[in-house]
Amino acid sequence: MKLVFATNNIHKLEEVKQITPSAISLVSLSEINCYDEIPETAETLEGNALQKAEYIKERFGLDCFADDTGLEVEALDNAPGVYSARYAGPEHSAEANMLKLLENLKGETNRKARFRTVIALLINGEQHLFEGVINGRIIADKRGNTGFGYDPIFVPDGYEQTFAELGSDIKNQISHRALAVRKLAAFLSTISE
Ligand code: IMP
Repeated sequence: MKLVFATNNIHKLEEVKQITPSAISLVSLSEINCYDEIPETAETLEGNALQKAEYIKERFGLDCFADDTGLEVEALDNAPGVYSARYAGPEHSAEANMLKLLENLKGETNRKARFRTVIALLINGEQHLFEGVINGRIIADKRGNTGFGYDPIFVPDGYEQTFAELGSDIKNQISHRALAVRKLAAFLSTISE
């Protein structure tokens, strides 16, 4: 069974390939010759994930899934959320995004935050959503140098180190994306037996 993962992020593709059943052949956008800038204009993670998956389904007629992730900070009414990548502007600068977040949280004692990933799967004419959440807190200063995005300022619950200090082995076991992907993989196992 051929299934498109609507991403060109090779790291995400590899991570997902490792846990999807072997009966499913996962392909990336470049493998179906799709080099389009797929629109992500919805106001929710669910909306964006579905928008991306539907774009591929409509144009290529292939079953597919797409993901969208955001950092939701309690004291900021769940901002930056769906706007996480461009919180400080369209340049998608992780440094600028973190600075803006730390600035907006200055003096705030409620540091609770969570990463949330939503995966939208369109398969056999049906739509399925899978969610992965990891709770944690935003610290006052950046620590660590692995990972990407907001990793240097996010400490997951149950740990003292940031995602950027914990490294990819631990992060990939506990992360929002890993949890959502595991739910997706479990579902795919049930339909590919
Ligand atoms: P995407 O939907 O995976 O492209 O994620 C959107 C944005 O959320 C990214 O540009 C990052 O700013 C942030 N983000 C997503 N996943 C992570 C993560 O695992 N660590 C840190 N930041 C993340």
